[in-house]
Amino acid sequence: MIAPAEGDADTHWLERAVELSRSSPPSDTAFSVGAVIVTADGLVLGEGHSRRDDPHDHAEEVALRGLDRDDPRLATATIYSSLEPCSARASRPRSCSALILDTPIPRVVLAWREPDLFVDCDGAERLTTAGRVVVERPDLAARVREVNAHLLD
Ligand SMILES: [Zn+2]
Repeated sequence: MIAPAEGDADTHWLERAVELSRSSPPSDTAFSVGAVIVTADGLVLGEGHSRRDDPHDHAEEVALRGLDRDDPRLATATIYSSLEPCSARASRPRSCSALILDTPIPRVVLAWREPDLFVDCDGAERLTTAGRVVVERPDLAARVREVNAHLLD
């Protein structure tokens, strides 16, 4: 299979992440987020959305759950998240940024930088500082805001 141009693949998978976010059980105190982990060949290794298995679940955490950290495919994978991975959280000791940094996943694509609504977030900065490539796609941010519109009034 010939992989689509990187930009097209990013759009496709980030749209998939936004689609997944719509499956999140509603919450008045947390964002609805979707995440998908894809290899360079376009193979999906994991998917997740907020509160999938537990009310405290974050999308990236769910997508990473069950993946073997030593899986060699992670070394070329990208994690797509509709929202910037969190850098601090009240509910659990490990933030999604820390969970990503526990893996060799080299590339993170996000649509929307987390607004400082619930906690200050510097996930993108932490990932970049640790040497991961972070790509922001603000052209898709409006869709993420739409999913979370009830939190933004
Ligand atoms: Zn998180």
